[in-house]
Amino acid sequence: MNIIEREHRDFFQTYKRFNLILDRAEGVYLFGADGKRYLDMFSGLAVNALGYNHPAVNAAIEKQMKRYLHVSNSFFQDVQIEFAEELLRAAGYERLFLTNSGTEAMEGALKLAKRWGRPQNRSMIFGLSNSFHGRSYGSLSITWRDKYRDGFEPFLPGTGCLPFNDVDALEKNVNGSTLAVVFEPIQGEGGVRPISQEYADALATLRKKHGFLLIADEIQTGVGRTGKFLAVEHYSLKPDLVVMAKAIGGGLPLGAFLAKEGLAETLKQGIHGTTFGGNPLACATGLATIREVLNGCWMTNVNSVGGYLRDSLQNLADQHSDKVVDVRGLGFMQGCELRVDATKLVEQALEDCVLLNVTNSKVVRWLPPLVAEKGHIDAALEAFSKNLLQL
Ligand code: PLP
Repeated sequence: MNIIEREHRDFFQTYKRFNLILDRAEGVYLFGADGKRYLDMFSGLAVNALGYNHPAVNAAIEKQMKRYLHVSNSFFQDVQIEFAEELLRAAGYERLFLTNSGTEAMEGALKLAKRWGRPQNRSMIFGLSNSFHGRSYGSLSITWRDKYRDGFEPFLPGTGCLPFNDVDALEKNVNGSTLAVVFEPIQGEGGVRPISQEYADALATLRKKHGFLLIADEIQTGVGRTGKFLAVEHYSLKPDLVVMAKAIGGGLPLGAFLAKEGLAETLKQGIHGTTFGGNPLACATGLATIREVLNGCWMTNVNSVGGYLRDSLQNLADQHSDKVVDVRGLGFMQGCELRVDATKLVEQALEDCVLLNVTNSKVVRWLPPLVAEKGHIDAALEAFSKNLLQL
């Protein structure tokens, strides 16, 4: 039996995987057991900001692994504190809690919100249509699509979704009993959909009027992916809580929820905790990653090469409006929505050794590592356009 047959035998079949067995990875490339080199345009689903095998990340692993891999959160650890300081400074927040994953970070942020809102009799937490916030019960309660929710009911009471980017619906539904509105600045799984500036402004105005919490899910958009450290910075919006994961661990499992100082009293000793969250090795790789993103000026690269990617996709869309509906996104998070299912295009691109991702079945989601250069984007675009024309 080969690896693929053994996987089919052993695993719940929850993942649609590429027909590709991996050997190793380097920079923007994955190398297959078939000896071929594959150009990766979705970087571990927005995890590998610096690509694979980055020397700064590897050095951080080596240094930390010689000290210790795990100790419990009963101890003070310099590596955790340094990571926290760097992340809080970069994001512009004052307090955080470290988790293992995005869904756990969202779960923690929702728990914080609930405890904060209880004395004020606030109960309703809204997500938005098309949202994705994770697969645990809190996260799933404000996730929109039936695909993820069907059969898992009932969800948390006091949760629901409002129509995306609909200011009227927002105005009609939020009031003094609203506890929180949770949003992705650019919806990822939902098809790479940025919130509008008008919607961001309405969120800020209505928060001021009604006093609810604004919670930004920056799990996919954070750490420079959109050309700013947080995507909300594009909108001059300052949420009360920011939820992060994916790239903040530099390739190891790490999540966080970050808050303004005013919320610090809500989570006191013993109220929330985790065994692995804030793992020292993950903090070390996360610290190295954030430092490199900031000091290596990779957000400048995202802005220039991301702009080039965006313009190139838009040109393709203009020339082939019979095949492309829309191009949208910011920096290195771009979505190209096709008129037809994109599965075949992705399979064909694999034959050309280019790895593309599809979300919402018709949206080709571009999430290159922040270190991707124009030449890499050109090579990927060539395979993309060739196979687009064959659809
Ligand atoms: N929120 C967003 C916007 C995501 O993209 C994801 C994962 O794709 C999650 C939450 C869940 O994160 P995790 O898979 O780390 O639990």
